[in-house]
Formats: sequence, structure tokens, C-alpha cells
Amino acid sequence: MTTSVTGPEAALSTAVPTPARPTPNIDTDRIAGLITQLLVELGEDPTRDGLLGTPGRVAAWWNDFLSPDSAATTTCFTESQLNGQLVIVSGMNVWSLCEHHMLPMSLQVTAGYIADGEVVGLSKFGRIAQHVAGRLQVQERFTRQVFAHLTDVIGREDVAVRVRGTHLCMSMRGVRMDAARTTTLQAGGRFETDPVLFQQFLTLAAAQ
Ligand SMILES: [Zn+2]
Repeated sequence: MTTSVTGPEAALSTAVPTPARPTPNIDTDRIAGLITQLLVELGEDPTRDGLLGTPGRVAAWWNDFLSPDSAATTTCFTESQLNGQLVIVSGMNVWSLCEHHMLPMSLQVTAGYIADGEVVGLSKFGRIAQHVAGRLQVQERFTRQVFAHLTDVIGREDVAVRVRGTHLCMSMRGVRMDAARTTTLQAGGRFETDPVLFQQFLTLAAAQ
């Protein structure tokens, strides 16, 4: 199940392919050189005091951004007494970059799953969100990728992910609407087949 709600502008298409993994080690010297060229093209003097270190700092930031921690480690713990408990983790805020405008988007992530016989280490949720955010993205694909990582971790489709995004490409350019927020939802397994459970997730996600 995929649902996208955008106010006041319609959401972009959700039919997006899975992107290739970003290159973890970029050539920061070459990036710095390109930033210097960009500054010149923008009418700046890259040798003036305030800009001397800028190309190097921008290159270092790109390297950090494209090299998030791995989300690969498996952190599940056996909890044999648990049967069908709803677990929701919220308040996970990550920054990513909109691939259409290369401007930041702030993504608030809430994820839920059904714990059956084992629990997922809670920090795993944040690590997955950080990992998927560290590349050029669209919110819809980010939501689907967080969902896919979580279903891999728990080995079932009983996962729901809600993301609320603030996009600078909507607030500092284009329609310039500061208050616009985009909400995306992806749910599977029991969240898809049990409307009461899905409503519980939505209610708890909205309250947090
Ligand atoms: Zn954009």
C-alpha cells in the first residue's frame, strides 16, 4: 500500500526505480575544483578571504553526505513471549537532498512493525533512515526504501512507514510556500490487510 498526500501541491510520481548506491569515496579534490569553477561562473572571486576554504568545505560535506553509516548489521533480539505487538518508533529526523533541485529536504520518519517472537534493535530504525537519506532522493522513494530495509530486517512485510517532509525547493524557490508539508506512507503485510491496525499506526504516528 502506498499513499501520498501533499499540501498544497500534488506529490510527484511514485513510479521511480531503485537508484544505484552512491559512490562512498568521491574525489574531493576534483569536487573542490568544480566548486571553484562554479564560484567563478557565479561572478565571485574564489581567492577572496571569505571563499578561500569554501570549495574544500563543500567537497568534504559531499563526501560525508554520500557516505552514511552502513545499515547492514542485523540487530534483532529473541523475545519469545511477544506475539503481535505493535511497535512504533518516531521522531527520527534526517536531512536529504531533493534530486530535482539539489536542495535540502527535512524528513520526519515514523516507522512501525509487528513484533512476533523477536524485537528489532531500536537504533536500527534511525540508522536505516540516515543511510537511505545520504544520497540524492525523492521523498516517495526514500519512504519505499526505508520500508524495504525494514522488511528485510524483520523478514516479513508487517511494516508501516510514514514520512513528513519539508522541501526547500517548495519554500525557498518555485511556489515559495513555507508551510507546505508532504506526507508519504508505505505499508505492507498486516498493516495492509487489517484496517484497524493501520488506523492505530496512523493515529499514533500523528500524535508523535
Ligand atoms: Zn525539489
